[in-house]
Amino acid sequence: MPKVLALPGDGIGPEIMDSALKVLDRLAEHAQMSFEIDFDLLHGASFDQHRTFCTQVVLDKARDSHAVLVGAVGGPAWDNIRLPGGPENQDGLMFLRHHLQTFLGLRPARSWGPLVSQSPLRPERTQGAEIMILREMCGGAMFARDRGLGLVDGRRRGYDLTAYDETEVERFARGGFELARQRRGRVVSCDKSNVMESYKLWRAVVNEVAADYPDVAFENMFADNCAFQLMARPGYFDVVLCCNQLGDLFSDLTGVLSGSLGMLPSACLVGDPGLGRCFGIYESTGGSAPDIAGRGIANPLGMILSVGLMFEHSFARRDLSRILDQAVEATLAAGYSTQDIGGTATTAAMTDALLTALDQQLRAADRG
Ligand code: NAD
Ligand code: MN
Repeated sequence: MPKVLALPGDGIGPEIMDSALKVLDRLAEHAQMSFEIDFDLLHGASFDQHRTFCTQVVLDKARDSHAVLVGAVGGPAWDNIRLPGGPENQDGLMFLRHHLQTFLGLRPARSWGPLVSQSPLRPERTQGAEIMILREMCGGAMFARDRGLGLVDGRRRGYDLTAYDETEVERFARGGFELARQRRGRVVSCDKSNVMESYKLWRAVVNEVAADYPDVAFENMFADNCAFQLMARPGYFDVVLCCNQLGDLFSDLTGVLSGSLGMLPSACLVGDPGLGRCFGIYESTGGSAPDIAGRGIANPLGMILSVGLMFEHSFARRDLSRILDQAVEATLAAGYSTQDIGGTATTAAMTDALLTALDQQLRAADRG
């Protein structure tokens, strides 16, 4: 029986998790799969109870699962807590990514027909855009082992040593090219190899991997230009390979295509994404949204779409992910939207509307 660990986390996390689990139930019923779902605490919720952002028990449960769903983590109460140990001990999600080595971060961003007026970009530029920002999740500056904050010569100094080794870059790049083969067959890798050594290694290794995929159109781009190009001609891009930090920035940046961070799903995978049997952590790309938490108005669609990514990449059911996309499109087209995308629907109303649309799509799929 497939096992899923649900970690609602903080802020809006529990609110959007609730919606995601309803959708999981409905898709599972359709697929005649019965999931065993366990719940636990992550990050702030975990810290308040256990004084650690992720317990060993949670890590063991995650290891014992086929997939992990995470709502969102963080908030002002915990953002400046410093615990003993490395960077992974400072954040519940980073703890899981590090120990489970889920290095391949999928951050798809697309424009949705009914939401074109929510994007600051011109409709003729965003129409049909579907970008997969691929973010390396386990290395780079954010996981710098060599880091510090202190006094040097009487002046305060903070540093994080950015480093990648070839194994980390290679497994990540291969994942990207495999994914591109299932999509539109185009890969852009972004870096700052003109001015930084870690990116020189990045570019050299990605070029070597690219040579094994002659069927995929490949190019390197300097990251600053890439940021501009992503906004100027989003329709040009398919898979974009980014280090951990650039991927974090670019995935939120491409959120302008849909108009809200609340529309963005994500996955952190380990395994060959070509096979659909990866272990994965699935989460919304946005954060815990402390400004709207507890009010029942968060947009659940990003988290719901993450459930679609889970069916696609952990349970080899890309068809269900497609159907869910269609249900989201239909829900938006019917005029339902939460406040972040220009409407007034509550999280619960949005979820109900989506479930109704999903039922229709699933019935149509049964008939077809
Ligand atoms: P955020 O993504 O939480 O919020 C940015 C803006 O987007 C806010 O105005 C928020 O209301 C809006 N937003 C985000 N998700 C939304 C949704 N589902 N529906 C409607 N609106 C939504 O980013 P932030 O304010 O920079 O960070 C808040 C906290 O979240 C911090 O503690 C940060 O560390 C954490 N964080 C967590 C994750 C994660 O869990 N994966 C990611 C990013 C930030
Ligand atoms: Mn982020």
